Amino acid sequence: MRIAIIGGGISGLALGYLLKEGSPHIDLKIYEELPRPGGKIWTERHNGFLLEGGVNGFLNNRPKTLELTAALNLSPLKSSDKARKRYVYSRGKLNLLPEGTVDFFMSDLLSIAGRLRIMLETVAPASASDDETLAEFAIRRLGREAYETLIDPMASGIYAGDSTRLSLKSCFPKIHNLEAKYGSLIIGMLRMKWAARKTGKAVSAGPGGVLTSFDDGMGSLIDALALRLGSSVVNNRRVAAIEKTNDKYTIHFNKDNPPEEADIVVLAAPAHAAKDIVKGLDKGLSALLAEIPYPYVTVVSMAFKREAVKGNFDGFGFLVPYKEGRRILGTLCDSSIFEGRAPEGYMLLRSMLGGARAEKIAALDDEKIIDTVFSELSDIIKVNGTPEMVKIYRHERAIPQYNKGHAALVDSIGQSLKAHDRLYLHGNSYAGIGVNDCIETSYALSGSIMGKYRL
Ligand SMILES: Cc1cc2nc3c(=O)[nH]c(=O)nc-3n(C[C@H](O)[C@H](O)[C@H](O)COP(=O)(O)OP(=O)(O)OC[C@H]3O[C@@H](n4cnc5c(N)ncnc54)[C@H](O)[C@@H]3O)c2cc1C
Repeated sequence: MRIAIIGGGISGLALGYLLKEGSPHIDLKIYEELPRPGGKIWTERHNGFLLEGGVNGFLNNRPKTLELTAALNLSPLKSSDKARKRYVYSRGKLNLLPEGTVDFFMSDLLSIAGRLRIMLETVAPASASDDETLAEFAIRRLGREAYETLIDPMASGIYAGDSTRLSLKSCFPKIHNLEAKYGSLIIGMLRMKWAARKTGKAVSAGPGGVLTSFDDGMGSLIDALALRLGSSVVNNRRVAAIEKTNDKYTIHFNKDNPPEEADIVVLAAPAHAAKDIVKGLDKGLSALLAEIPYPYVTVVSMAFKREAVKGNFDGFGFLVPYKEGRRILGTLCDSSIFEGRAPEGYMLLRSMLGGARAEKIAALDDEKIIDTVFSELSDIIKVNGTPEMVKIYRHERAIPQYNKGHAALVDSIGQSLKAHDRLYLHGNSYAGIGVNDCIETSYALSGSIMGKYRL
């Protein structure tokens, strides 16, 4: 039985590894268009700095990721305690995000009226729609000020998205379910905390967990999977199309490579690539896949001598609400988050530009990108002097946007897929954008394929 996985990001590699572990005799190929596997996970070393071109880490509260890393003999590295300090840029300065409820109500991050409005959350009206945007939800429950200062930057930090279009239930299902179950987030949280006292488990309406990586960065996960998968991973092999002939799929490649056959095909490339691959097979499915948008995001790593950063800035980093009108989405302080990211005496900063509301900024040429980041950092955290190191990572189609209607779209995609026996869609375009989601769905899909075909 030949299984072909198209796309060698974490989704394709984790699925391939689990299939091989479960059934060592299967004939497996993972076709990856780039010269390296890993997709958005891409670690480099440069002049003593450890740079992440895309993914920075994963939250350690989802057991399947830790199960996979343990099976690969990898030792996870938790972010440092310093990384608990997080900032939001608001009213022209960085504001420390309060950690507890009392601190929040005492801090001046929101005006007194904004803080009082949050207390009305317990009596906010229910929504008339099952699929609201993040903005609609947050304004209805928490008020405009909390939405603009706290919720909107979270949407750019995770999705590089536009909170007036992102769907609450697809992006933050825990929060959506909390409201559906308790009628109020505050009441829901209190009830959950009360119940958790008995079990001793931590509760959180947000993602929860501690940001985690490895000593040598997220690339270690990719290297370990690629090592186990050996010659099953075929790099530099862009799939152009698939067609069905009798009981088999024929896979067509770009350039000179002859077509190959497979019994089962898993499309683990992003939806924007999968849409081209299935165009000849099913125009309707291709059209549905084309509806998932992927904005342009550029990541800029910039290092400074510690003394060149005059502002009082340490910890995890800061996010910038859209209403502030700045040209970066936010900046992480990589050298404080994880040990060993920068030589002694240096600060390594990673800024994100672009996203759903500012794609043109991400597409600027390198010189303008560097000028933009430098001038924003000079203003926000008072850097002074020239950067000691700069690296730019471009993601022309970065993160799938789960906009309002995404859940219905994924349902329609699932319906269309039913017409294609032994064809699967996988990856972060559909049911969770993070590394944890990719790994969890890899476990589920490998189990379902092995069960169905008795592998
Ligand atoms: C800048 C950035 C930062 C992020 N940070 C985090 C983070 O810190 N934590 C987190 O959990 N998530 C983060 N994410 C989300 C992250 O993308 C996912 O968590 C995860 O890496 C997605 O993996 P994937 O395998 O589904 O897709 P991808 O990583 O996109 O992999 C898909 C693969 O398919 C290949 N491919 C495409 N077309 C073809 C074709 N025609 N033929 C063959 N191969 C093809 C691609 O080259 C790629 O290797 C970030 C994303 C971005 C863009």
